[in-house]
Amino acid sequence: SPNGPASPRGQTLLLDGITQRYGASLAVNEVTLDIRGGELVALLGPSGCGKTTLLRIIAGFLAQTKGHVMVGGKSVDGLPPNRRSVGIVFQNYALFPHMTVAENVAYGLDARGVDRATQRSEAQRMLDLVKLGHLGDRTPRQLSGGQQQRVALARALAVNPSILLLDEPFAALDKNLRLDMQIEVKRIQRLSGITTILVTHDQEEALSMADRVAVLSQGRLEQFSPPTEIYDAPDSLFVNTFVGSANLLGGVLVDSDRSAGRVRLDAGGLIETRAPKGDLQPGSRVTVCLRPEHLSVDPATSDAETLNGVVEMGLPLGATVVHEIRVGDGTAVKVSEPRIQRTDLLAPGTPVRLAPVAPRLASVFAAA
Ligand code: ATP
Repeated sequence: SPNGPASPRGQTLLLDGITQRYGASLAVNEVTLDIRGGELVALLGPSGCGKTTLLRIIAGFLAQTKGHVMVGGKSVDGLPPNRRSVGIVFQNYALFPHMTVAENVAYGLDARGVDRATQRSEAQRMLDLVKLGHLGDRTPRQLSGGQQQRVALARALAVNPSILLLDEPFAALDKNLRLDMQIEVKRIQRLSGITTILVTHDQEEALSMADRVAVLSQGRLEQFSPPTEIYDAPDSLFVNTFVGSANLLGGVLVDSDRSAGRVRLDAGGLIETRAPKGDLQPGSRVTVCLRPEHLSVDPATSDAETLNGVVEMGLPLGATVVHEIRVGDGTAVKVSEPRIQRTDLLAPGTPVRLAPVAPRLASVFAAA
């Protein structure tokens, strides 16, 4: 199943204390990632965080300043790209325009001296895998963007690499096709059981495709966790706001234990939260992160222990309704509710109360 566990057939990949300097600047700073065989790991982060640099180091296009790359427990440091057993799909696919689709897929086998008959049968097998078995005689220009991408994937897989590297592979596709291709690539990755690194700056893509997501910021690893943990229980304010929208509210920590905390919000009300990240004492200034779907808009009450506000505006967004609520300290808080539950839009000026849809959804960090 596409959501099944990683395949033990794939090779492990260890990035051990990887550092990359360009002159005085640190592009990658002591990154360690221990990747299981068959796992799909997304490298996620804003532009310039070091994703591409890490990918190029794994591929062997770039020699790291410090640290080691181990594939299947063996060091590949110093090996050129063609001796690393790595398949790569680039953002622009980089297909050879003058070759047929089948010749493109067979290219790596030809370069390795595989005989013609085997080249043909292997290329056909790979094209069948990506559901393009009937288009082998076309040239890349006669294919759609999504089909070209599948050819690039078939070409990368044809040489039976230990590791598959995907460099922003969906960037050139429109939104609907992108979702189809994400599902398709995940299916193929599961079928082949190949350990895969996906470089992306698209949060949804990383969260939906990866077994684990490595979030990078300014060359440093911020968090390496399964997608639900990254989204629900981020380790830092950076991860919290980078992987989804978040309302940030200031407050003071009242008390906390290992499983929960309570915060008095500047905007009014006391809220039960997740356990604060880091060692925070009662009385500390904190930032509370509430995702828009963590809240519901309820009728106003006179209770002083609640978070009260006034509707600024409401937007129906197809599946959800989003209201922007101005709360006591002037912060604009976004609330997203399923439209099946919230059938009415509230008029601007309506006094309301914001209630968490469940206890302990909010994350808490030391105030920035
Ligand atoms: P993007 O999403 O924009 O591709 P990225 O996360 O892939 O960004 P990298 O391309 O790995 O980031 O770059 C990391 C940092 O290293 C950036 O600050 C970049 O400017 C710098 N950098 C990358 N290549 C070089 C180079 N050849 N010489 C000097 N600095 C470089």
